[in-house]
This record gives sequence, C-alpha cells and structure tokens, in this order.
Amino acid sequence: MRRFVRNSIAWVAAIALVPLAVLLVMQYRFLRRLEETTAQAERNWLRNTVSDVVNDVDQQFRSSVEFALNVPPQALGDADLLACHYRMSHVPGAKTYFVVRFGNEMWDVSSFDPAGKAKTVPLAEGQAMKVAVASWSVVHHLGTVLPARTLSIDDADRANRIIVKPFTDAALHVAGVTGVILDNESARAALSSIGELSAKRRRHDNDLTIRIGDPKMFEARATGRREFITEPLKFAYMDWLLGIRDVCATPEELAHINFRFNAFWTAGVALALIGAIFLAVQATARQMKLSQMKSDFVSNVSHELRTPLSSIRVFGEYMRLGRVEKPEKIREYGEYIEAESRRLTQLINNILDFSRIESAEKKYQFAECDPGCIIRDILSAFEVPLRERGFTIRTEIAAPLPQVRLDRDSIAQALVNLLDNAVKYSGERKEIEVRAYVEDGALRIAVADHGIGIEPGEQKKIFEKFYRVGSGLVHDIKGSGLGLAIVSHIVKAHGGRVEVTSRPGDGATFTLIIPIAGETQPNLSPTLENA
Ligand code: ADP
Repeated sequence: MRRFVRNSIAWVAAIALVPLAVLLVMQYRFLRRLEETTAQAERNWLRNTVSDVVNDVDQQFRSSVEFALNVPPQALGDADLLACHYRMSHVPGAKTYFVVRFGNEMWDVSSFDPAGKAKTVPLAEGQAMKVAVASWSVVHHLGTVLPARTLSIDDADRANRIIVKPFTDAALHVAGVTGVILDNESARAALSSIGELSAKRRRHDNDLTIRIGDPKMFEARATGRREFITEPLKFAYMDWLLGIRDVCATPEELAHINFRFNAFWTAGVALALIGAIFLAVQATARQMKLSQMKSDFVSNVSHELRTPLSSIRVFGEYMRLGRVEKPEKIREYGEYIEAESRRLTQLINNILDFSRIESAEKKYQFAECDPGCIIRDILSAFEVPLRERGFTIRTEIAAPLPQVRLDRDSIAQALVNLLDNAVKYSGERKEIEVRAYVEDGALRIAVADHGIGIEPGEQKKIFEKFYRVGSGLVHDIKGSGLGLAIVSHIVKAHGGRVEVTSRPGDGATFTLIIPIAGETQPNLSPTLENA
C-alpha cells in the first residue's frame, strides 16, 4: 500500500512536472530564437534609421545651400541686400559666402562671413574659390546658354570645399556664380546636430549616438563590438559617413538583455509552479499517509478489541457452565478476565481521550498533588500482573518530591501508556525502571525499558497520531498508535514536554518533564525504593 501511495505521488509529480519541463525547454528555445530575431530586427531598425537620418541631413543641407545660393537678382549688385540675405542664410559649416560676377576682363568678387559682414577671403580659400569658379568663367566666355542652374561641388581642396551655383542674365548666359566655402569641423558639428534631431524624432528616448566623419574614423571605432551602422552622406561630403549606434548596447547586447529579462521571469514563474506542485504533492502525501494510518488504526483497534473480548467470553462461558471447579483455576481465569478488561478500558480510554483532544473538548482538572503518590498507585495496579509475566520493576522516587499542580487522572493515564509500551516493546529482557525526580525546576518522570528500542529517525514521528513504527498488521505487536500522541498532549497541557532517548536493540527511556510553577528546585537525586 505504501509503495502504491509513493508510486501514485511520483506519477502525479511526473505528470505535472514533465509538461512543465517540456514547456520550459520550448520557452527556452523560443526565447533564444527571439533573441536572434530581436538582434536582427534592432540591426535592421538601425539600418533604416541611418538611411532616414542621412536623407534628413541631405534634405536640410541641400535646401539651406539652395536658399543661400539663390540670391535674388536685385541683391546681386547691392552689398547691403547681399549682407541681409546672407544673415538669413544658415548653411551648415559655412565660413564664407561669395558672389562672383564675370566681367569682360575682371571678376567682381564680394565675400561675406556667416553673419553677413563683408570679409576678405584668406589666400587658401581664395585659391580654392578661383578653381571652383574658373570653369564657370569659361562657360561665361563661351556664351553658352544655361537653361537649368544646378549646384556644383568642388572638393579639389578638401580643407575648403566649395558649393557654387551659376546665375544667368536675361539671355540665360552665365553671368556669375554665388558660392559658399565650407569649414569641415563646423560642418561636421552642424550636420551631426541635424542628424541627432532627426534621430530623436524617430526614437524618443534619445539613446542613439550619431557620428559624422570619414570612413577611417569609423574603422578606428569599429575595433570593439560597439560598431556603428553607417551610410555615406549624399551631398557635399559624399566621402564622409554618417554612423549610428545605441548609446548603451549593441543590437546583440540589447537582445541578450531582453532574453535575460524574459528568462528570469519564466524561471520565476516555473519555480513558483514547481513550489506549488511540491506543496500540493506534499499535502496529498500527508493526507494519504494519514488515511493509511487511520485504516491501520481501525484494523489494529478491531484486532485489539476482538482478542481480549473473545478470551473473556470463553472464560466467562466456562465459569457459567460450571466447567471450572478448582478454586485456583477460577482465580486464574478471574485474574485473566480482570487484566484483559483493564487493557480494554485503557484502550477505550485512549480512544475517547483522543477524540476529546481532537475536538478540543478535553478538560484538565489541575490540583496540587504528590506525584510520588500517583506513580505508586499506578505501579501497585501493574505490579502483580507484570510480575506474573516475568517483569521486574525498579522504582526510584526522589524523597521528598514537591507538591505539583497536576491533573491526576491524565498524568496517571500518561504513565499507564508509557508502562504499557515498555511492556509491549520489551522483548527478552523484562526489566522496567520508573524514576521520578526534580531537575532544573521541573518534575521528571522517566519510564525505561531494555527492549527493541527506536531508530533515531523514528523518535520524533512516534508522537504523531496513528503513527506506528512499521505500522499495519505486519507489525508483530498490536497497538493503536495513539498512546504517545496522548502522552505528548497531556504533558503539553501541563506546560511540559516528553523526551525520548533510545538506541535500537538497547531499550528506550521516555521522560515526562513538567515544570514546577514558581519554583526553582535544587536537584534532588532519586532514592532506591523497590529493587
Ligand atoms: P502503539 O499503540 O503502537 O504502541 P504508541 O503511540 O504508544 O502507539 O507508540 C507509537 C510507536 O512508538 C509504537 O508503534 C512503537 O513502534 C514505538 N514505541 C513506543 N514506545 C516504545 C518503547 N518503549 N520501545 C520501543 N518502541 C516504542
């Protein structure tokens, strides 16, 4: 039966745990796949974002240059209007704006700083400007008709990149150019700010880093895992890249953080589930064990009741029919009937007491009494039958024992249960010792035998209701499994406890320890009363 119970619990646990394990494995694989997909998705998102940001930068850069270089025709010959126009222009990185009007012999050049102030162009810038404008001067001299005017970029001098736009006269001949000379560092800073604003519009938590520069700069930064996703700029700085990356982590790191977060919660939920299953299995096991013990109890008690009752009936019938005539036989049968009736009474008392304890109806009548007196009364009732069964009882009661507040009947019952057990589990060596003494302010009543003893692992369990070591009909010695549970309850009701010391095969000693209210007693050693 026990094995069946254990097996069914194992099955229940397996049925609940196996799907959970399968689920966990599936969840793990799903999360791993999700991690890969998330990294890929994040990388794609960054790629799309970098394209969008490059487009935004291009659009803003180009339109600001268009505005600056589309000088209204009436302003071309007027320094004040030109200054005003350039004050309103905001080309990223502009260090000089200029207008060149081609004459027959000479160029008329006006130049301004970004604030619209007239400026003398430094030598290097001037040379770069001449190179950028020269081709248009040729076009002017050729008198070519120019239907569409487009921006052209001259980056022959990388330190002074120039964007120029021709303007034409009424006959659509090139009459001159307007242009802007760029400063690389300020262009880098200004374009980066445009890029940052654009990225911010796309990701509000603004955890993206934007860099603009030549490819070498990105190569140097790509040594670690935190590389940038890059795309070339589309205007003026086409040899430069715009790079983007997450401030804190690479797409793989982000995906892994996500994975860990999900895995952590999955593990938490799984642990909670396993805990719940464990508790449920434990509760079921306890219930099954209890019901097993109860059915053992019923079978044991029925057996305990049936055997003495049938003996009493048989001896009673003998006596009623007058089949026993010898006075010593009559006495022997009488004693047997008396002993068996006492055992039955004891068993029934235990059962009744147990049911009172279970329903919390057990009442104790405490009164000052002499514990020695209770012990002697019980022993005198046990003495004759035990001696006849070959037992010797040694009693050591310390003199004088103090008066203690006890429920006399309950303590007597506890003692009877302990003596009953000592007799039942004594085996070959039929010696029992009963000692009563005071130690550490507590009355101690010890019942010791030299019988089969109790395994250390069982010593706590024997105080549980219905618990019997190797319980069931297989147990050679019959019992209800209630005796020690009742003893333990009685002693607890007196504010004390029961202690057991035992070595298997060497007997057991049960000690009732009952505190003596309001007193700290000196140790009183027991005196030998009956050997
Ligand atoms: P039972 O009616 O089975 O004796 P108890 O509650 O009195 O029920 O005891 C519980 C179990 O403790 C017993 O089944 C027995 O195995 C063990 N036990 C109790 N007293 C002794 C003892 N003196 N020596 C060995 N084992 C004991």
